Amino acid sequence: MKEKLVSSLLEGKRMEAYAEHRTVDMNCCHLCESITYKKIPGKEIGEKWFCIDCLKKLKEILDTLDQWEEELAIGSKMKEQMDESLGI
Ligand SMILES: [Zn+2]
Repeated sequence: MKEKLVSSLLEGKRMEAYAEHRTVDMNCCHLCESITYKKIPGKEIGEKWFCIDCLKKLKEILDTLDQWEEELAIGSKMKEQMDESLGI
């Protein structure tokens, strides 16, 4: 009888540990807000977790950042020239 109680207590502890383990494995991507488990790769940046898909998109953006900045610079230069020609 006592043995049975001990084993059921142990079982409870095991379930608890398992549940905790699962919670640790669970991540929520802060960009696409999808909840993923350990099988989906991702990285923690600071305290936030991002899935591989969002990190890939982020990399694409970062890879074209120079070009993007150039475009922005051209855009603001054009606006300046337009302002000048309008006498503002
Ligand atoms: Zn994501």
